[in-house]
Amino acid sequence: MNEIRCIYCLNHFDSTDITKEDFWPVSWHINKKQNTPKWIVPACYRCNQAFSKLDGKLLQYFGLTLNPKQGTFTHIAQKAVRAFKPSSARDDDKDKRCRQNNLNNLMNNIVPAAKIPKESVLPTFEPTTQYKGADGVLIARDDIIKFGEKLVRGVIYYFYKQYIEKTHCIETFIGGEEIEDQKAYDVNAAIEEMKGFSQHLDKYLNGLHTVSVYDLSSRSDVVALGIWEQLKMLAFIQPR
Ligand SMILES: [Zn+2]
Repeated sequence: MNEIRCIYCLNHFDSTDITKEDFWPVSWHINKKQNTPKWIVPACYRCNQAFSKLDGKLLQYFGLTLNPKQGTFTHIAQKAVRAFKPSSARDDDKDKRCRQNNLNNLMNNIVPAAKIPKESVLPTFEPTTQYKGADGVLIARDDIIKFGEKLVRGVIYYFYKQYIEKTHCIETFIGGEEIEDQKAYDVNAAIEEMKGFSQHLDKYLNGLHTVSVYDLSSRSDVVALGIWEQLKMLAFIQPR
């Protein structure tokens, strides 16, 4: 029997126990058109389930920040709002309870305008003062980083057929964050700079833009991610 490794936990599995994971989930696609290709990678059932929970949670929160009147985002924004409305539940109590829980968690994470951290605000995740007067919702940085690392493992497997082994770590930054001591070095500038490398790979799939520079012999590989051209992340893959 063939064995396949999961790109996330790196364990070996019988091929019948491996799932086909869309690392850029269809629910995040900004264009609902049929026939959009999928970026499929191998993942074990456990990792697939764990990430689909995380994807769902983040999509609801990010969805709330989108403008439903902006055509490409309408379906995502509306779906996010419904996820917090018990009255949108299908005719079953479990679904209703689930939406009520989402709403309770959301209310616990709302912060008044004065307490919104200035350094990182969606949609751009960069410093801003333009949301005066509006309440904010806190999203855990760890969740965003986990999601980013999942995308990076997906990109490296899908385009380079490589696993990121335990000998390496992924260090991820969110747009607007400082990269080490280089205060002037932001994620956007870094992405522009990466495009100058001859071996860079620039790929786009329905809302996810990736730019990568990957070469096993180098000390540090880089993957830049642009989600809906709004949330940008930069990940360095380095030997431990
Ligand atoms: Zn796994």
